[in-house]
Amino acid sequence: MAGTGKFFVGGNWKCNGTKDSITKLVSDLNSSKLEPDVDVVVAPPFVYLDLVKNSLTDRIELSSQNSWVGKGGAFTGEISVEQLKDIGAKWVILGHSERRHIIGEENEFIGKKAAYALSEGLGVIACIGELLEEREAGKTFDPLSFADAVPSWDNIVIAYEPVWAIGTGKVATPQQAQEVHVAVRDWLKNNVSAEVASKTRIIYGGSVNGGNSTELAKQEDIDGFLVGGASLKGPEFATIVNSVT
Ligand code: PGA
Repeated sequence: MAGTGKFFVGGNWKCNGTKDSITKLVSDLNSSKLEPDVDVVVAPPFVYLDLVKNSLTDRIELSSQNSWVGKGGAFTGEISVEQLKDIGAKWVILGHSERRHIIGEENEFIGKKAAYALSEGLGVIACIGELLEEREAGKTFDPLSFADAVPSWDNIVIAYEPVWAIGTGKVATPQQAQEVHVAVRDWLKNNVSAEVASKTRIIYGGSVNGGNSTELAKQEDIDGFLVGGASLKGPEFATIVNSVT
């Protein structure tokens, strides 16, 4: 844990769940014992945000999985930052690899979204991470090319999620993750400031589960996790939250 903030664990529920399964998940989370010194956030699908907000313990904060790039209006199918704040969301996940590689979102657009969300007071979980071909070609992370658009680093968590590790069961080794986290921190130091580099939380995502989180959490520069599949199981998600000791 190198960032000066608390360990941060986010659950990204993606496009999963029904009213029934989400009610069960919320009830499992409500009855879980969670380490007090960990920031815990969950990101349900948009349509269930309100249901979760009204039934989940305040101990866990709410995130959206996306947000619109500016003020709301005639943007069919989009959800604005103002609407997210209105229903009590505190965070938004931006730049997730599924949005980059399946939906086609690019860095510049993601940067604008991040800038807007931050300027409106929403925290941003900003995702970066390389494809397998990029890793094989020696490129391990995008040099945060949207960083210029970020007005303030106070409310931003960086999630390093190698695309080859997401939903594949192929978790990065603790050393692989640590190596990239150090490179991201160095990048922040050289391109933003030493202060931002030392205090920004850099979390890891990609096949994190209750069996591998403790080893990953021991790495100096891993400040938390963004969890997909395993966040859909309340007790396992709690184990991951509690893996920092
Ligand atoms: P996973 O997903 O844990 O299912 O690999 C992580 C993510 O996409 O955030």
